[in-house]
Amino acid sequence: MGEMKTMDEEWELRFGDALVEGGVITAAELERALAASERTGKRLRSILMGERGLSEHDIMRNLSQSTGLPLIHLEPGMMDERAKAAFPVSMTRKYNVLPLRFEGDELVVAADLPLDIAVLESLAFTSGHPIQQVLAGREEIAAIIGAASGGDRLEEWMGEWEDELLEYVDRNREVEQAGVEEFEVKEGDVVKLVNLLITRAIKMDASDIHIEPEEGFSRIRMRVDGQLREIVKVPDELHKGMVSRLKVLSELDIAERRLPHDGSFFVHFQGRDIDLRTSTSPTIYGESVSLRLLDQGKAAVRLEDLGMEPEDLARTAEALEAPHGFVLSTGPTGCGKTTTMYAMINGISTPEMKIVTIEDPVEYRLDLVNQIPVNHAIGLGFARILRSVLRQDPNVILVGEIRDMETASVAVQAALTGHLLLSTLHTNNAPETLLRLVEMGIEAYYVREVVRLVIAQRLVRLLCPECKEKYSADAREREELGEPADGDTVLFRARGCDACAFTGYRGRSGVFEVMPMSEELKEMMTTDVPMRVIKEKAVEQGMRTMWRNAVSKVREGRTSLEEIRRLIPREG
Ligand SMILES: [Zn+2]
Repeated sequence: MGEMKTMDEEWELRFGDALVEGGVITAAELERALAASERTGKRLRSILMGERGLSEHDIMRNLSQSTGLPLIHLEPGMMDERAKAAFPVSMTRKYNVLPLRFEGDELVVAADLPLDIAVLESLAFTSGHPIQQVLAGREEIAAIIGAASGGDRLEEWMGEWEDELLEYVDRNREVEQAGVEEFEVKEGDVVKLVNLLITRAIKMDASDIHIEPEEGFSRIRMRVDGQLREIVKVPDELHKGMVSRLKVLSELDIAERRLPHDGSFFVHFQGRDIDLRTSTSPTIYGESVSLRLLDQGKAAVRLEDLGMEPEDLARTAEALEAPHGFVLSTGPTGCGKTTTMYAMINGISTPEMKIVTIEDPVEYRLDLVNQIPVNHAIGLGFARILRSVLRQDPNVILVGEIRDMETASVAVQAALTGHLLLSTLHTNNAPETLLRLVEMGIEAYYVREVVRLVIAQRLVRLLCPECKEKYSADAREREELGEPADGDTVLFRARGCDACAFTGYRGRSGVFEVMPMSEELKEMMTTDVPMRVIKEKAVEQGMRTMWRNAVSKVREGRTSLEEIRRLIPREG
């Protein structure tokens, strides 16, 4: 197919060749391992380590013996300052090599495989010193490179990224030509930088890009798996150009820098359609920009893919089959409620169903669904839209959020009169939810009548499969997991490698608490019964708490105990 090889794939090939040359494996064994890697998608190194029973240390020791290069163990702080400056970070990253120290005129460089002549020459040329090579483990080198460069220098960062084809999708307008003369820096730099930011964010699955001016420079950060990561710092001169470019793309007034603006634009990249929502605000150092990335492919999300346990999935599906009533999702901002709502809609959507959503704002476009955005500027809130929607005879209505008495009361009316209502509330757990509706002023009687199911949720990060680390849980940890204190429990924890930007985690999964409403529970929840008692009752009736569901994910090695401690409320 002639696909481009990634840096990792190239490394694997060079690594394989070095092993053959060093006599660690035969050429035939390499062939077989490469074929297995192609077939299974596993890395060459894991195949050699797994199937041939070689540890990384074995491999490195063999390489060291066969090549005569000394093998060293790297520790943080081993890189001296003068050596560190010998060549740029981009080069360190490209070849996974680390300049360590000078010995006389020679620069000692650690690498994870014998470097070939071309690389040695290029390192010697750049540093101006002959190179003396030593061997060290790949992870050790990568860890030190990662630690040494939180936020890269701009030119290095830009140099690493190929200018890939990013298509700005023109929704009835010519954005490319507009406003170019306003750029204060060479237009090409700015255009390239913005392209790189967007393509990198898409590849990293970032949800947001933040461009924030400070004194003399501008800091660029991205949110990945819910966590902000510093990416690069950009000089002042480029900042204004970037902001102008983004404002032009978003059809915003580039001359007005004193007021906040909201806009959007659309891009197509490597088969993905991304909607970018731009929001600017004036700060003391100039305009800051936040971009939210909405991958339209995520609109097709399915309930089965969210991380729900099978029993909970079955309970949810059952509640969605009801012709009327209320299905509520709760949790703090950013816990994945909206995605769950979309998944529910996708689960019930058919051409025979009329489904209307009222959203603030509409994030993803759904087929067969009428989506109406809230518009506060013209007084079009949830309640007012909901009233008019009811006249259109829908089967299912999604109300983005219930924030006030008026919306709550129209929504309850709708659920009572033969509509299935889906909505979200800001409460901490499932049991709190009904009481919140009562506190908003809805009669307890009505609340009990309509609510069918309450789902509480959080998002936890999943351990990076490339580097997660096995360990034996101690007595205290076993107790947290509800395991016998004297047993033997194997768990996994985060480590960090270049595949996960040294965070130890990649991707997220929902953790749920699904609470079907029995008569007894409804009775308890709309009066002042303590939360603990309600929860005990729900558990007695078969509800699996969020904590218990999270513990299952820890036991399966999908996330860490540390992660769920941080995010999931405990029982009791
Ligand atoms: Zn990793």
